[in-house]
Parts: sequence; structure tokens; C-alpha cells
Amino acid sequence: MTLTRRPRIVVVGAGFGGMAAVKALKDADADITLVDRTNHHLFQPLLYQVATAALSPADIATADRALLRRQENVTILMEEVTGAAPERCIVQLANGRELSYDYLILATGAAYSFFGHEEWRAHARVLKSLRDALAIRAEVLGAFERAEQAESPEEARRLLTFVIVGAGPTGVELAGTLAELARSTLARDFRHIDPRSTRILLCEAGPRVLAAFPESLSDYAADALRKLGVELRLGQSVTAIDATGLMIGDERIETRNVLWCAGTAARPAARWLGVEAARNGAVKVLDDCSVPGCPGIFAIGDVASHGDGSGNPLPGLAPVAKQQGRYVAGVIKARLAGRADSVPFRYRDFGTMAVIGRSRGVADFGWMRLTGFFAWLTWSLVHLMLLVDFRSRLAVYLNWTWAWFTYGRGARLLTQDGLEELEGEHRAPARGRPVDGDQDRLSPGG
Ligand SMILES: Cc1cc2nc3c(=O)[nH]c(=O)nc-3n(C[C@H](O)[C@H](O)[C@H](O)COP(=O)(O)OP(=O)(O)OC[C@H]3O[C@@H](n4cnc5c(N)ncnc54)[C@H](O)[C@@H]3O)c2cc1C
Repeated sequence: MTLTRRPRIVVVGAGFGGMAAVKALKDADADITLVDRTNHHLFQPLLYQVATAALSPADIATADRALLRRQENVTILMEEVTGAAPERCIVQLANGRELSYDYLILATGAAYSFFGHEEWRAHARVLKSLRDALAIRAEVLGAFERAEQAESPEEARRLLTFVIVGAGPTGVELAGTLAELARSTLARDFRHIDPRSTRILLCEAGPRVLAAFPESLSDYAADALRKLGVELRLGQSVTAIDATGLMIGDERIETRNVLWCAGTAARPAARWLGVEAARNGAVKVLDDCSVPGCPGIFAIGDVASHGDGSGNPLPGLAPVAKQQGRYVAGVIKARLAGRADSVPFRYRDFGTMAVIGRSRGVADFGWMRLTGFFAWLTWSLVHLMLLVDFRSRLAVYLNWTWAWFTYGRGARLLTQDGLEELEGEHRAPARGRPVDGDQDRLSPGG
């Protein structure tokens, strides 16, 4: 590509993949535009701790402008991308503007999928954005407040029944933390209810929790959850969700607290480009993360389907997105320097981890497996190091240390806004809920 002006690189999405790409393009002689519909980079692995009142939103989200303040080749636009026209090398924005590019990196991530049951979305909460986490927090803390005033034990029981659908790492971590919130943190806070009687069900269609982990670690996690009082429903699918409860197989559970942590689907980049998509809607990319038939366009992270070399797609994990972001930045820099060939992207798997409550975890590093306290400690240290800036690391470290010694929760606040929003929804459930943070424009302090 021969240009008489500085090349333009547009990056859509400031999540793990997009942010890694932009940072790796720091020394590129190019004009980079980063477009994201929110103003912050979000550390999603700790979202469940905001949802369960262990951390505040600002602990796990940092403004994009703060992260990139010193990178002068980047312009940040807080805007929604609504489509693309690859034949004209432009992306379309929700405000009607168009952005032209020489290279385009699509890193828009994934959203929760209800497996074709869109009608369930109005009655279940998902956990993808800060807004989702705050809504779950309001629902959880609000349920205890309402139960304290319940007119019958049945009503209190219904209010204090939580069902989590999907026993991957998010479902397991949410179930473990909710159980500890109910059985330890809130245990002595109420006069008319006993929070320790809270029912927490974790429902999974597959035969075991943490299906992506080795079986021995799944068994350990299941055992640890049972010890915390979580009821497991393994090998049983949800068949209906409505305003007053759900069906797990043939069993009816009365509850309004359904937390959906099951399937995900890629955001619609494949549709924008009119290219082939995998079953989950992700763009099928070539070995170098480029989109077939679309010169100069790359898709990375959860929105892309990239083979792992043995016929399976790479998992939807933060390290995959980050490594692809850095890799694609390298490919673009090489092309700008006139070197066209690139070695194929290879994912380096450093291991996977999950925690169950305040002191148990599982970790699989391939060459070594850990369970119990040491897995939990490793998880904690790794997540502290992965947080994006020093301020977040310090805030999370202090919160965790305080909570560990006191069983307390640093941010057990139920804001009026959250309650009003929820009460509005409970009065008029048909109004529905924001679609996977689609309306999430909270500032980090929000
Ligand atoms: C609750 C939860 C827990 C998780 N825990 C872990 C974990 O422990 N370990 C792990 O490795 N992975 C975990 N993941 C998965 C991990 O977060 C994702 O794999 C990773 O975020 C993917 O990075 P990405 O850059 O592809 O997308 P994301 O990080 O999701 O970023 C996508 C960005 O694109 C923006 N965007 C989307 N659509 C548009 C649009 N149309 N216009 C403009 N901007 C747009 C979004 O606002 C967002 O900033 C977890 C995910 C969730 C939801």
C-alpha cells in the first residue's frame, strides 16, 4: 500500500484485544482512531465482585483517555459503530458519521446468548458490563431488604432464592461469592430473616461444573460449592423462564433472581462485513487474524473465530484477545514498513483458573494443577497483576485484604437509582432490560 498521507488505523472496541492493539501501535507512524461505545476499559474477570458488592466499579474500570493520555497518535471516539462498508474502506457510526481506514481492527467482543429464547432476556440478568453488575447488586441486596419485610415465610423464601444458569467460571465464581455473602457477610445484619437460609442453585446442562477444566478440578470445585451450601443441578437444562420463576427440567423454582451465565454469541461484525461466521456468529479469520476477502481488515478476541491448530476455535478468554491484539499490531507495523509476510498467530496458553469463595480455587497450568488455598492465592496475585493500572491494583488489594480478615464487604451500598430502576422493572416486567450493556455508558466512577 503506497500512501501520500499518514496511514489511518481504526480500532473498534477498547476491551482486552483493542486496547492491546492500540498500545502495541504506540510507535507506529500512523493516525489511530479508537472507537468504543463506553468511555472505559473494563476488567471483566472481576465483574462478579462488583455484582456481589465486594468491589466498586472504579476498581475494575479505567477511562480509555486516562490509559492512552500519553499516546499522541491515538484519537478516542466514544461512539457506537453500527456497520461497515469494506468496499469503500469505511465504518459507520451511530451519529451518522463515517470513518475511513487503511487498516481496520474489529475487537467488539461477545454478548450473552439465550439460545434462541429471546423472551427469557426480560426475566434474567446477565453480567457483561458495569451496568449489568450494578443491576445484579441492586437485585441481590434489594432481595434481602424486601425479604426482611416479607408478609409470609413463603414470600421470604421466594425472594431469597437465587438461580445461576451456567457453571463456567463466571457462574461458579458468582455462586461461591453469593453463598458467602449470604452465609457470612450478611448473616447478622437482619432481624426477621436469617440470610443463611438463602437458597442458591447453580444449574448446568452439561454433566459437570467448569467443563473446560480437567475432571479432577471440576470435582473439587463442585465439592467446594456444596460445602458453601450451593445446590448443584448438573445435566439439567433450563426449559422456561418467566416473571415469577423458571423450570429446570420438570422442576419449577419460584424466584425473580435468575442470573444468566450460559452461552455467548459474538457481536455482529461478521454481518457488517458480509463474511462467513462460525456457529456463535464470530468472524472466521485466517491464520494471521485477517478477514478473508477483506484486505486490511482484522478481527480479534471474542468477535473472531481462530483455529487452535487442532480443528477447534480458540477459547473466549482475555489472554487470547490480548495476544491477538499485540500480534495484529505487529502485522500492521510490518506492512507499513513494506514487509508483507507474517508468521501465523499462535496462542500461548499460560493456564486457566477459577475461585470458589474467599479461600478456595482451582488452577490448571497444563504441567501443574492446583486446588484449594494455593490456587486461590495464585488467582488473586495473577488478577492483581493483570489489572490495568496501579490505582486499580492498590484499591483491589486493600478491598480484598479488608474483606478477607473481616468477611466484610467494602461497597455494600444499594443506590436509590438502582432500586428505582429495579422497582420499575418489577412493576412492568414487559419493559425489558438493557441488552448486554448495549446502553452502558457509565463512567468508571458510575
Ligand atoms: C463476567 C465475565 C468474566 C470473565 N472472566 C474471565 C476470566 O476470568 N479470564 C479470562 O481470560 N476471560 C474472562 N472473561 C472473558 C474475557 O473477558 C473476554 O474473553 C475478553 O473480554 C475478550 O476481549 P475482547 O477485546 O474480544 O472483547 P471485550 O473485552 O468484551 O471488549 C469489547 C469492547 O468493544 C466495545 N464494543 C462492542 N460493540 C461495539 C460497537 N458496536 N461500537 C463500539 N464499541 C463496541 C465494548 O464496549 C467493549 O469495550 C470473562 C468475561 C465475562 C463477561
